[in-house]
Amino acid sequence: MPDIIQLLPDSVANQIAAGEVIQRPASVVKELVENSIDAGATSVTINIKDSGRTLIQVIDNGKGMSPTDARMSFERHATSKIREANDLFAIRTMGFRGEALASIAGVADVEVRTRPHGEELGTYIHILGSAIQKQEADQCAEGTNFSVKNIFFNIPARRKFLKSNSSELKYIITEVQRLALANPELAISLYHNNSVIYNLPSENIRKRIVSLFSRNINLNLIPVDTKTSVINISGFIGQPKYAKKTLGEQFFFVNGRFMKHPFFNRAVQQAYDRLLPPETFPSYFLYFEVDPATIDINIHPTKTEIKFEDERTAWHIIQASLREAMGKFNLMPSIDFDQAGSIDIPISPVRGSNIPEPEIMINPNFNPFEEARGADRDYSKATSYRDEQNLDNWQTLYKGFEREGEQNGRISVYPSDISDNVEHEAIQQTFTDDDLAIKECHNFLQFKNKYILTPVKSGLMVIDQRRAHERILFEDFMRIIDNHLAISQRQLFPAKLELNAVDKEILIVLDEELKALGFEIRQGEGDDFFVEGIPARLSHLNASDLVEKLIGDFKNRPVDVKEEIKEHLAMLLSQSAAINYGVSLKPEEISDLFNHLFACRTPNYSPSGKTVVSIVSFQDFEKLLK
Ligand code: ADP
Ligand code: MG
Repeated sequence: MPDIIQLLPDSVANQIAAGEVIQRPASVVKELVENSIDAGATSVTINIKDSGRTLIQVIDNGKGMSPTDARMSFERHATSKIREANDLFAIRTMGFRGEALASIAGVADVEVRTRPHGEELGTYIHILGSAIQKQEADQCAEGTNFSVKNIFFNIPARRKFLKSNSSELKYIITEVQRLALANPELAISLYHNNSVIYNLPSENIRKRIVSLFSRNINLNLIPVDTKTSVINISGFIGQPKYAKKTLGEQFFFVNGRFMKHPFFNRAVQQAYDRLLPPETFPSYFLYFEVDPATIDINIHPTKTEIKFEDERTAWHIIQASLREAMGKFNLMPSIDFDQAGSIDIPISPVRGSNIPEPEIMINPNFNPFEEARGADRDYSKATSYRDEQNLDNWQTLYKGFEREGEQNGRISVYPSDISDNVEHEAIQQTFTDDDLAIKECHNFLQFKNKYILTPVKSGLMVIDQRRAHERILFEDFMRIIDNHLAISQRQLFPAKLELNAVDKEILIVLDEELKALGFEIRQGEGDDFFVEGIPARLSHLNASDLVEKLIGDFKNRPVDVKEEIKEHLAMLLSQSAAINYGVSLKPEEISDLFNHLFACRTPNYSPSGKTVVSIVSFQDFEKLLK
């Protein structure tokens, strides 16, 4: 029998390898940015055209490559990151398999321009379907610039297999979110068809989370920080009330690398135990640091599934660490910290050392839903689970209010003396509109056309006029959407919108909520859209600017949770329409603002989470004049 086994040509081998490493445009983004990170870049710019079908470009300011290295980098198993098998147990770089560039070059039209720091000239290489087309010296910038064009041009079946543009773009955005969270100190910009999606400076983790998700999340983050001999865990978890209806905001990182870990995910879910509203998923951004020898990154070509040496111990540490974080944060006012037993960290110490036991006590019988479960969202009457969480704030806010009524025969307008045990329901009910009809008995002063000042028992209450108005409008808009109360103001001359492809997709997703708010948007001939009506309350604003601004703001956000879309729209509109600083208010307007503010569910925070009301204490005044 004749011999029939042959070695595959490189180009075919690379295509096959690409099947594992490069599944879609987002995989190219991941591999290229990881290479930039490994090359010590502090700044990376990503340009995408047509969701990556036409172009994926990654430009970094990393260390660059010599002409030989640049040529070598496209060979399979060519890597500068490991030299021998032992190195596999001490991996600190993102890449090490030396396959990514070979795979990418096997399935696309690739150009690289690269110049090492301090060198006068750089190198240009053009490689198409694994075949070098051109290599020459090039006057490029320091660092490296990869352009990957027409992905899967030589594998029509795979090119066809790509999903819709908006799905592929979402994969890319998700990938960039992971990279951005794993490397907050790295400045990252992402452009799609020349419009900016992210433009993130080097920042800390908390700021990065806020830049990527929303300003709302900031108030809802609980810091986590636990060090043991087995694993260090840091980062943030979302408060239970911030839990999402989808899995969007769940991120684990290990040694700077995003990972999926269903087993640890269950550990997190269980740490929240019964604190989560039904059918919701907690948000988390958890960073694990472990000895690289105790994990196996190699089990999956895209390196997102990672095996831990001792997963059971890690599981318990995660749980204990999260509960400690929640306990410290004093999240649940009714948890009785004095009663329950502590949570044990298991004893299977790696390398003989002891795992310190976090000190946490919680009441396992506490169930925040006993009263609140199933309550409707109602923005005028506060009975939902969320409000329970606001209890603390309410208490601080009203702590010092006067018992004015008792003292001088008038009826008190403030709840006096809210004791710690008072039912939440009761607190809220004290703030009906009638109660707050206080015009006669309160002096207001508008200060610098920015703050409203009014005396209270413990000192001087300071209200930020713009934020107060934002809060009032926000709750109004939420009511309008929820109860279909929109009043639309028809436009005399419908304004044409300037939209690109992504914008249009977003507009279609937002359609229902925009209608509910009173926007009337019509698709004209071809692809043109016109604003024919806007919410009556906003009639003073420029219709097309407003809609374009709304769409622009949604580019950076997941748009698959209805509740989030509503809240975010309501927030943006309240910000657009709120009275500004510098506007002088009439006395009636001030007391109106005050009354409406305290009829709100959450008067003390603006919709974006900024403080609306604060009290300068009497003691502070006394100190001033000592
Ligand atoms: P790996 O990252 O696993 O080593 P790759 O195929 O992704 O394999 O890259 C091959 C090599 O090319 C890297 O080891 C590195 O030396 C070099 N390289 C790739 N991208 C860059 C970059 N942006 N800057 C500098 N060197 C790079
Ligand atoms: Mg790599």
